[in-house]
Amino acid sequence: MSSLAWLSHKLDDGRVACDACNQHCKLSEGEYGICGIRKVENGELILLTYGLAAAVNVDPVEKKPMFHFLPGSHIFSFGTVGCNFACKFCQNADISQYPKEHHHEIIGTPLPPEKAVELALEYGCRSIAYTYNEPVVFFEYTYDTAKLAHEAGLKNVYVTSGYETHKAIDTLAPYLDGMNIDIKAHTQEFYKDICGASLKPVLDTVEYAYKKGIWVETTTLLIPGLNDSDEEIRAIAEFQAALDPSIPWHISAFHPMYKMQDRPRTPHSTLKRAYDIGKAAGLKYVYVGNIDDEDRESTYCPSCGQLVIDRKGYIGQYVTNHLTPKGRCPYCATPIAGVWN
Ligand code: SF4
Repeated sequence: MSSLAWLSHKLDDGRVACDACNQHCKLSEGEYGICGIRKVENGELILLTYGLAAAVNVDPVEKKPMFHFLPGSHIFSFGTVGCNFACKFCQNADISQYPKEHHHEIIGTPLPPEKAVELALEYGCRSIAYTYNEPVVFFEYTYDTAKLAHEAGLKNVYVTSGYETHKAIDTLAPYLDGMNIDIKAHTQEFYKDICGASLKPVLDTVEYAYKKGIWVETTTLLIPGLNDSDEEIRAIAEFQAALDPSIPWHISAFHPMYKMQDRPRTPHSTLKRAYDIGKAAGLKYVYVGNIDDEDRESTYCPSCGQLVIDRKGYIGQYVTNHLTPKGRCPYCATPIAGVWN
């Protein structure tokens, strides 16, 4: 299935510029974008994965991870093949890198926007996540689905590497309620050598989406020896604290994946160290993930310190939300930032 990739414009030299992400591909007839799923055919940019899901699940929203967004609810989650990054540690490389590693082959199961919304409602979900691969590369598919989802009373979440252009965010913002944005590291070298991208546009997206009023949480996967120094962890935490200390920060454990088999798993001690650095930088909500640590997966009121959302078990298995319906601490009435209903 394919569709016009209308988030694009034509150039005077006959090429087509894609406006979806900060790779800013400028493509001639027959060329594919870096993501491998946008291609120029007959002078038009085409999205080759429109309505074709490569992975579909009903997940706890905590698994995205989104901890301050309808806690304890389910989120209908899907993604396609293709990605604008090439992270050597990708956990979903079988789909994200599929077209690039299979001579541009596109695979997926038909899931038109109407069907995605229908299934989300049928399974009792309160929201839809565009996830597993980078959602902005299948922008037009996410846009049509998100619009229908809003009409049906569902919210929408992007789980993203943060490479959206301002144009993509501006266009989708009326329908986009939440984003979990990876801040994969705080050095250009890491982004360039390990992900095939750049740091600055990612930090810009975090700031731009936040200022646009979209609910933002961020995630950093800590990889031993690559991005886990005190200085780098502190740089990420301080960037985020300067923007808003209420933005939740998820720090998660790496395990060997894809092209990165030469590194050990992240020790628990590293996550605890990062947690302490995040708190010392002033962040109100720091969470560890991919590891069993209930104390650091729960939410505490930043004013009175009481436990307000209790998370136990593997990623969102048991969530007890003690907040008032309006998202206030039940003990001292302090508002806890988030999307609660
Ligand atoms: S979405 Fe794909 S085609 Fe468009 S700029 Fe990004 S990598 Fe290039």
